[in-house]
Amino acid sequence: DSAIRLRGLHRRFAGRGGAGTKALDGVSLDVAPGEIYGIVGRSGAGKSTLIRCVNLLERPDSGEVRVLGQDMLMLGDRALRERRRAIGMVFQHFNLLSSRTVADNVAYPLEIAGVPAAERAPRVAEALSLVGLTEKAGAYPAQLSGGQKQRVGIARALAPRPQILLCDEATSALDPETTQEILGLIKRLREKLDLTVLLITHEMAVVKEICDRVAVMEAGLIVEQGRVFDVFTRP
Ligand code: ADP
Ligand code: ADP
Repeated sequence: DSAIRLRGLHRRFAGRGGAGTKALDGVSLDVAPGEIYGIVGRSGAGKSTLIRCVNLLERPDSGEVRVLGQDMLMLGDRALRERRRAIGMVFQHFNLLSSRTVADNVAYPLEIAGVPAAERAPRVAEALSLVGLTEKAGAYPAQLSGGQKQRVGIARALAPRPQILLCDEATSALDPETTQEILGLIKRLREKLDLTVLLITHEMAVVKEICDRVAVMEAGLIVEQGRVFDVFTRP
């Protein structure tokens, strides 16, 4: 069974005058448990809209969204919040709260989920240990390098112990060396935690580095997909 199963997703944004923008024009995708799946394409191709449909940050106008066997579009608010704990998300610009320490940033999704303080502390320690930032628990985001900030973003995503990790241009704000470091970390976390990873990027190099399979998007459509080796290696 697929960890993520998308069928016939359509999403149109209203525009001035005419028909608006078809951000998704009928996208279907299956991500197998434990794989790292990449979606690549130019700016405006619909990647961000697609990945946001997985946890319903964006609602498709039509189509089917199944995550871990659950029909996401059938869920009420409460059940959806519960389900989202199984789906961590990592962002391009980290989205850290500057007034909170590293530990309190990582604790944030647990607070939102109503996890009692006594249970939050060991989860935060566990998540920081997974990304190698234990010694930065008391630091503030402004004191960290870009790579460290993204490791905090990853720890925050991991704190609720998700089965799925969504990465939205997670390395696009980082230099090449730090990008390698973060991609290496994501690979190790996949092994260690049995994560399923869906990532979007405009960088082919990222896909070649860590993805098992890839889909290429253009104008709201998947125009090619397959194993990375088959899609990118041409005689
Ligand atoms: P990508 O992530 O590949 O850059 P997006 O999913 O962000 O692509 O955008 C796909 C298309 O949908 C683009 O034309 C974009 O301008 C449009 N779009 C995305 N979000 C919105 C929005 N909230 N309102 C209007 N248009 C949007
Ligand atoms: P970078 O990690 O970008 O090389 P620096 O060389 O400025 O950053 O900092 C070296 C180390 O000290 C980093 O681990 C960083 O997180 C930490 N650091 C930087 N500024 C402060 C600060 N004001 N207080 C505490 N730690 C800091």
